[in-house]
Amino acid sequence: MKIIRTARSMAAWSERLRREGATIGFVPTMGALHDGHRSLIRAARLRCDALVVSIFVNPTQFSPTENVTTYPRPIPRDRALCREEGVDVCFEPTAQAMYPGGFQTIVTVPAVARRWEGEARPHHFVGVATVVTKLFGIVQPHLALFGQKDFQQAALVRQLVNDLNLGVAIQVRPTVRERDGLAMSSRNIYLSADERRIAPLLSQALRTGRRMIEDGMNDVAAIERIMRQTIEQAPTIYVEYLAVCDQDSLEPLSVVTARAVLLGAVRIGSVRLIDNLLVKMPGGKSRVSPHYS
Ligand code: AMP
Repeated sequence: MKIIRTARSMAAWSERLRREGATIGFVPTMGALHDGHRSLIRAARLRCDALVVSIFVNPTQFSPTENVTTYPRPIPRDRALCREEGVDVCFEPTAQAMYPGGFQTIVTVPAVARRWEGEARPHHFVGVATVVTKLFGIVQPHLALFGQKDFQQAALVRQLVNDLNLGVAIQVRPTVRERDGLAMSSRNIYLSADERRIAPLLSQALRTGRRMIEDGMNDVAAIERIMRQTIEQAPTIYVEYLAVCDQDSLEPLSVVTARAVLLGAVRIGSVRLIDNLLVKMPGGKSRVSPHYS
């Protein structure tokens, strides 16, 4: 496995592979890799001739109150996982290489970024949209894979790839979970033992909401109330939002439709957790968006 640290060498590698007719798969990450990342890497490995994983803790998607310097960076372990999974290139640019003096362009996707994570973390999605656009320009992948875990991020990437004709196919893969339902996340290591015990309440609440819909309930206010009550069993979890939304626009719904998604975010101590579930409508027919595999 090659480790590449400059945009120029990365682009040169990709250009050579493209000339040879190889398809390039790409999994962008911030490192601290876990089985959620591994599932994206495996899926990409099966679909492409060459596979690039980027590890870049992007400073521009953190707000001034979030500490980018304490984000976990277990680089040797991350590289070992990539090697194990047959990754061809680990692209590990420095912040200076990505944002040299004089850098000024930003990419915004205002409507998709307006609510939920965008509201809680102003500037987050400008950072994400800009870095993804840059990474696509450098790596020039045919296919890029993202996790459903970050539902709004995946919707934003699809929108920007479409709007800007970037020519990259996007695939979104299901959320990988711990045995108790907690969505895997690089942030879970910040939870204390007590916090970790109550963290699965978020996925539990979303499952409760989904079950209500599958049982025929379509009163969104009632569903949201029950989901909130599930979480508020534990007084130390603070609900930031729990919502039933349209899968594409992410606008809140007042009545459940066939293209709904349940989105949630909670705070436990200083740790923010997000999660989501796609809704299957009664009758067992899956009418989820074709983007989700
Ligand atoms: P991150 O390193 O947190 O920026 O995530 C890199 C990619 O991995 C993103 O596309 C995430 O949505 C995806 N990802 C993170 N956690 C999971 C998970 N538990 N299951 C599936 N994909 C995930």
